[in-house]
Amino acid sequence: MKQVFISLGTNIEPREERLAEARHLLKAEEDCSWQESKIYETEPWGVKEQADFLNQVVGFMSKKTPHELLKLCKDIEEKMGRQKREKWKEREIDLDLLYCGDCIVNEENLTLPHPRIAQREFVLRPLCDIMFRPASQRGLLPFNLGQFGTSTLGAPLLYAPSKNKCKLLAIAGIHGEEPESTFLLSRTLRHFAEPLQNVAFILCANPDGTALGTRGNANGVDLNRNFPTANWSAEITLSKASLESERITELSPGSCAGGEAETKALVEIIRKLEPKEILSIHSPLACVDAPKRTPLTNFLVNLSETEYKTDIGYPTPGSLGTWCKENLIHCVTWELPRLAPEILAQKFAEKLAFYFSKTV
Ligand SMILES: [Zn+2]
Repeated sequence: MKQVFISLGTNIEPREERLAEARHLLKAEEDCSWQESKIYETEPWGVKEQADFLNQVVGFMSKKTPHELLKLCKDIEEKMGRQKREKWKEREIDLDLLYCGDCIVNEENLTLPHPRIAQREFVLRPLCDIMFRPASQRGLLPFNLGQFGTSTLGAPLLYAPSKNKCKLLAIAGIHGEEPESTFLLSRTLRHFAEPLQNVAFILCANPDGTALGTRGNANGVDLNRNFPTANWSAEITLSKASLESERITELSPGSCAGGEAETKALVEIIRKLEPKEILSIHSPLACVDAPKRTPLTNFLVNLSETEYKTDIGYPTPGSLGTWCKENLIHCVTWELPRLAPEILAQKFAEKLAFYFSKTV
């Protein structure tokens, strides 16, 4: 049995009744674990001079192959009297196969997953209604976190493991004064009812700094200068007190490379999980900084409408990024734009959740 999602759309009256009929015809064939999203009214896409659409997504479990499902969709469109028109024109009813389990199909008349889901609000919105945990249940994290160490002040260092091999490890809160990164990642994780297939999460790498509201940990060490890299330096590290100010605020890189409890634990958990890529979320410089372009960097650049950089503009000895490079892990530093946490979550959490669940 595979989890199938199909989007429905119409902009020819009676729209509500057409959606109901399409659901009825689908459900007559497939009613196992049936789910339906709310109905959304959306402006037409492509050709603007036409009536608004009603859109909905339905989900069910099916034994059919992708091609059998495609035929089912086409048969229903035909039965409901869909006329042939140019692309993007009005339609009596439109059924698009979005997903069929993990099936990947690249053929002329069928591409799975449907290639433009993430760019289309009228598909993504209703799809997220049913593929994620209901909003009423997103108050709590979905499962118990594992502990990978203890902070300087004795706080547990926690992570959310992936179900299978970890391909991507997302880390927030390495700087204690960037709590919006933790909030955004937590909101994202709370979309799920169970661990992700290949993504693990560290919601707060520096709990002491976050509790104290300081950039460094409880010893005043900037953890992002304390990693055991070849270029680690005992020299004082400088940071900015705010975006506009100069880099004059002094912090310690620690007394030795990788000597802080939090850094040691991070190195250990990364070695254990062996992710191919690490996403380190910071704020508020508004850029995506990574050695090379990957699907993840492209996704983040589009999502946050920020610049891609290969260099942050000043040396960062002992940083997580430098350590990753030495250990052949691709590290993406995502500097969030300067926005309130709630706005960041509204803009990014659902799309991040979608990316983590469907792409990685
Ligand atoms: Zn930072």
